Amino acid sequence: MKEMEKKIFSCRQCGHCCHGETTVSLDENDLRRLVDFLKLPEEVVRERYLRITGNVIQMKVVDGHCIFYNQGCTVHPGKPWRCGQWPLHPSILTDPNNLESIRQSCPGLNKDMSYEEFCSILRELGPARG
Ligand code: SF4
Ligand code: SF4
Repeated sequence: MKEMEKKIFSCRQCGHCCHGETTVSLDENDLRRLVDFLKLPEEVVRERYLRITGNVIQMKVVDGHCIFYNQGCTVHPGKPWRCGQWPLHPSILTDPNNLESIRQSCPGLNKDMSYEEFCSILRELGPARG
């Protein structure tokens, strides 16, 4: 599967997807996985790493990037599921404009392949990518 994925995506480690003034939000499973990965009490994880606004839980942003970014993701096995979806987001399959906009943000996506060919490989990869 990894070989097939490489036809459409190979991460360039540019870090763009971990930069910005906000991060993806975490659901309850994400929070549990992160706490397990960090091996810290949940209160400490919330206080040290998370930005909580009402019901929305995000990761803190430090120096314009996610607090867990340091030349790559430092919590890879514990990262939120939405991080794992990037950049092969399922919305690509429903609208060519989504592929184009993700291509503009992510230099790791194959830029030469047609939309149809890209989608056919993405469909074959299925939803279970890690
Ligand atoms: S934007 Fe794309 S190429 Fe850059 S780090 Fe993120 S996934 Fe990798
Ligand atoms: S958790 Fe990891 S992959 Fe997700 S935004 Fe933070 S550094 Fe990037």
